[in-house]
Amino acid sequence: PYEVLIVGGGPAGAAAAVYAARKGIRTGVAAERFGGQVNDTLAIENYISVLETDGPKFAAALEAHVKAYDVDIMNLQRADQLVPATHEGGLIEVKLANGGVLKSKTVILSTGARWRNVNVPGEQEYKNKGVAYCPHCDGPLFKGKRVAVIGGGNSGVEAAIDLAGIVAHVTLLEFGDALRADAVLVNKLRSLPNVEIHTSAQTTELTGADGKLNGLNYVDRVSNEAHRIELEGVFVQIGLVPNTEWLKGVVELSKHGEIIVDARGQTSVPGVFAAGDVTTVPFKQIVIAAGDGAKAALGAFDHLMRMPA
Ligand code: FAD
Repeated sequence: PYEVLIVGGGPAGAAAAVYAARKGIRTGVAAERFGGQVNDTLAIENYISVLETDGPKFAAALEAHVKAYDVDIMNLQRADQLVPATHEGGLIEVKLANGGVLKSKTVILSTGARWRNVNVPGEQEYKNKGVAYCPHCDGPLFKGKRVAVIGGGNSGVEAAIDLAGIVAHVTLLEFGDALRADAVLVNKLRSLPNVEIHTSAQTTELTGADGKLNGLNYVDRVSNEAHRIELEGVFVQIGLVPNTEWLKGVVELSKHGEIIVDARGQTSVPGVFAAGDVTTVPFKQIVIAAGDGAKAALGAFDHLMRMPA
């Protein structure tokens, strides 16, 4: 069995693996796709000490760093069940989709999250070519340009306020008949001169030319009128979904499905820790996920030290 088994090989899982392996304990990483979300990222300019890199390069560097240590990397492996230990000090099991079962004294869950798509024509085609999901990551790329934000919940309204300080103009589109964000955010948004808000607006298509996004079409759901906005960027903000479907009923989750962790990354299940985008930790970023992975590994190590021999 492992002493630390990490499920998920994004920045959080990779950092956890390096920290665990450096303690000289038996460490394994099972990941559906090593590297995680960064594989789908173009430019990365906010990982401190790395002025600029791109996603695939960053993912390769994560893997190289983990491989420099004695870590079992099990890539292309999807976990589909977690079985807590039956008694204190017992082994935790992780069952894989391929039928295999991995056993470990501690487990770190770092299965990340995925952005919900609007699923309209043009979204996939112009992803990273004008269609973005992360204002903290890609906002500065649209400096002085026109953008739209799809989604009028807290994350959409926060994104619109954030972007309004960087870009020339922001249009916020909400499908429902009212914004669903906190009143203070909505008031702040309404006070900004370069923001326009449309409710009951159903996005129908993202258009482009020469491999670049150039506009958004939407229908006013009340009047049924079709509208078009010319722009350079669209931020889709209709939800970040944590990859925790397989943990429901086993590990305590928030109402958004995020794993609830304490300051050391400990979950509700003894010996099971979690790190990164999959948890309740606010602000989903690479540098935060990596720091979080290191923290969970140290939390797991501390837990191992206190386990009965
Ligand atoms: P993830 O990166 O999501 O990794 C999760 C890992 O778990 C993957 O290996 C996945 O395959 C695996 N996994 C999932 N389910 C299972 C399962 N059941 N069994 C086994 N393995 C599983 N952040 C920045 O800081 N700067 C940026 O510029 C930036 N740009 C971004 C651009 C895009 C398009 C996207 C989508 C995100 C961007 N982010 C950026 C956010 C950043 O990528 C994430 O915050 C970060 O990757 C989170 O790391 P993580 O390790 O928690 O999760």
